Amino acid sequence: MKQRLRAVRKAMRREGLAALAVTNRKNVHYLTGFTGSAGACLISARSAVFITDFRYRSQAAKQVPPDFRRAEHTAPVQGIASELKKTRAKTLAFEEAHVTHAAFRQIRKLIKGVRLKPVSGLVEGLRLCKDPGEIRKLKKGARVNGQALGETAASIRPGRAEADVALDLETAMRRRGASGASFDTIVASGPRSALPHGIASSRKLKAGDLITIDFGAVVSGYHADTTRVFSLGRPTPKGEKIYQIVLEAQITALEAVKPGARCGDVDKAARDVIRSHGYGEAFGHGTGHGVGLDIHEAPRLGPGVKEELRPGMVVTVEPGIYLPRWGGVRIEDMVLVTERGKEVLTRSIPKELVVL
Ligand code: ZN
Ligand code: ZN
Repeated sequence: MKQRLRAVRKAMRREGLAALAVTNRKNVHYLTGFTGSAGACLISARSAVFITDFRYRSQAAKQVPPDFRRAEHTAPVQGIASELKKTRAKTLAFEEAHVTHAAFRQIRKLIKGVRLKPVSGLVEGLRLCKDPGEIRKLKKGARVNGQALGETAASIRPGRAEADVALDLETAMRRRGASGASFDTIVASGPRSALPHGIASSRKLKAGDLITIDFGAVVSGYHADTTRVFSLGRPTPKGEKIYQIVLEAQITALEAVKPGARCGDVDKAARDVIRSHGYGEAFGHGTGHGVGLDIHEAPRLGPGVKEELRPGMVVTVEPGIYLPRWGGVRIEDMVLVTERGKEVLTRSIPKELVVL
């Protein structure tokens, strides 16, 4: 935590910022360890204040390290305004993507004479490369994902609803130590598998369905993310063919993951394979994304992205093919970029097309 506060101050110096209000909950969690829903920080060169309200008094005392002075205010905006006055800063930087217009107007009224400067991605930039503690949490999430999917596979059969499978999976993740699901679990079967984000519905599974399951466990605030595909009974030749193309694209993209590789090149590796088989139009999303305190965070593995992968980044690799009315296939792993290459965190989860 100490190191993170030091890093944020360094970034502030680089940007010439005297004071920074951190209001993004995940950024507050990252800097202070506070996991409650009402907290903000005000950081300057000399002071660091954690602001919350009465409800979180004891939680903050337990979680927030002594580098932060703890202050109680009825609302974060009032807290930031009154704590800012003590710093005498003439400019306040704020996270523009995480401040509502109403809050902006309110703070402008409360701190007349102080210039408001929007910033974006400052703390998020520090979160790009995970430290060993964060990597441990992401690895545990990946492990929970594998165990939960293994347990749930046995209950996937014709007649059960997608939502039943999602519930089993979420229960299994919770039993294994997850605090919840990383996002609404996707169980997309038959023609619904053509929906890249087909959240589990009441549709009943049928023999012959391909079923895309995209899910994740949250462990200590960190999000796991994995997609696997099952076939209820023997797949059709077309199903088998599409699966093999996506698998080839996914493995090719994984091979491209290493320090110094451009995010856009990993995307291109997957896209070229899918295109070469004539399905380029059917792969309409990026190849992957960073995961951590947020389910989707930087870097983005999309076409043309020049940002380079660095050791400590944890990203997903998840190409797919989606054919309206027919169905779709996506395969997704989490991968840690290491000094020498990569480590696939979800490698223990079988990746061949599992026929149930
Ligand atoms: Zn996913
Ligand atoms: Zn994902």
